[in-house]
Amino acid sequence: MAQTQNREVLLDVKNLEISYGTGKKKFVAVKNANFQIYKGETFGLVGESGSGKTTIGRAIMRIVPTSGGEILYGGQKINGRIPRALDRKVIQEIQMIFQDPQASLNERAKVSYIVGEGLMNVRKDLSPAEREEKVKQALLDVGLLPEFASRFPHEFSGGQRQRIGIARALIVEPKFMIADEPISALDMSIRAQVLNLLRFLQKQRDITYLFIAHDLSVMRYISDRIAVIHKGDIVELADAEELIAHALHPYTRALLSAIPMPDPQHERTKTLLTYDPAQHHYETEAPAWRELRPQHYVLCSEAEAEQWSALY
Ligand code: ADP
Ligand code: MG
Repeated sequence: MAQTQNREVLLDVKNLEISYGTGKKKFVAVKNANFQIYKGETFGLVGESGSGKTTIGRAIMRIVPTSGGEILYGGQKINGRIPRALDRKVIQEIQMIFQDPQASLNERAKVSYIVGEGLMNVRKDLSPAEREEKVKQALLDVGLLPEFASRFPHEFSGGQRQRIGIARALIVEPKFMIADEPISALDMSIRAQVLNLLRFLQKQRDITYLFIAHDLSVMRYISDRIAVIHKGDIVELADAEELIAHALHPYTRALLSAIPMPDPQHERTKTLLTYDPAQHHYETEAPAWRELRPQHYVLCSEAEAEQWSALY
């Protein structure tokens, strides 16, 4: 998993800045983000609430504008103004699954409309009957009954609603899916089912995922690589196992200290760490994105680079 040469880059984010508001009210929600997502992998983006995760997802979806840098998809720039043909390609190939299945489905629309809506844009060639057929297949693909097509969202449980959301994304045959905390709003008992479904779909269709979560406990099992974001700054990025075993940034280490570990020895001796941003002295030396271990990147000053490299 650690080899990066010869891997096809599907999404390339370069010096990305995303801000809300302008002038005095300008708030930079994402600062100078840099990462690449390889074709076929699950790339995890983790950080506490308000750190800018959804903002990044929405910028890739072209729902929010970017204020600096570039987002390249398949080598083509997709932020800012883009040609219509590329816009159509992006609309079809990049889909998002939302955090809250209670809020993200149109209550007044039937499931057939909700799931089939995307086809109206990308498959104008289909007749209503063919569209209906695809809706039924999409429902089957996510483990729901085709008959559900004629019902309304309020008739379903949280888990079923999230499956409807997945069917809606899947129906246009996307290549890249952004799963924005797809299980955080669900009951504990059904989280694993939805995760397994997402994993199965990925294997079956070679879909690439950007998987967003606010804690590392789930992330470590489903992600190939993980990026950690703190208040708009991506502070660390590495292979999932490498990140868990050799976390370098104090924020990542604090996140890690909060999750239960399968190793009982570790469980007994661990201490809960808190992260204090004031521990950095970035007024005197600005941090930079550095590779401290192979394919393991951290935002740090030179002094920190030296100190953190000696941690393991
Ligand atoms: P996350 O998904 O990590 O919880 P978000 O990307 O939703 O974080 O938000 C990042 C920051 O941007 C937060 O401080 C949030 O308040 C702010 N923000 C999000 N959406 C808007 C918006 N539409 N207008 C202004 N600020 C926003
Ligand atoms: Mg969010």
